[in-house]
Amino acid sequence: MIREEWAVRPQRESFAKRFPYLAKWLWGNRARRCHWCNIPLTRKTRTFYHLLEKARGGNDLPENIVLACRPCNSSRSNRIRYGYPSRP
Ligand SMILES: [Zn+2]
Repeated sequence: MIREEWAVRPQRESFAKRFPYLAKWLWGNRARRCHWCNIPLTRKTRTFYHLLEKARGGNDLPENIVLACRPCNSSRSNRIRYGYPSRP
């Protein structure tokens, strides 16, 4: 279930471009599965997701970043469904 307005939101590939070493570390040291739905990820389907949005004060440290598939990354409702707070 991807709402159209979410589907057109910018994806997170830019993270890997801005922080190539951190992205490589995460890819090499984390389970290569979606943080929420647990499906296996590839380099083409992976995205990097800030648990605490940068707009809410989140940082770019590994603790705040998880690997996620595109649908989960695009769907804010997953945070609520899986117990991650959507509000500070
Ligand atoms: Zn997922």
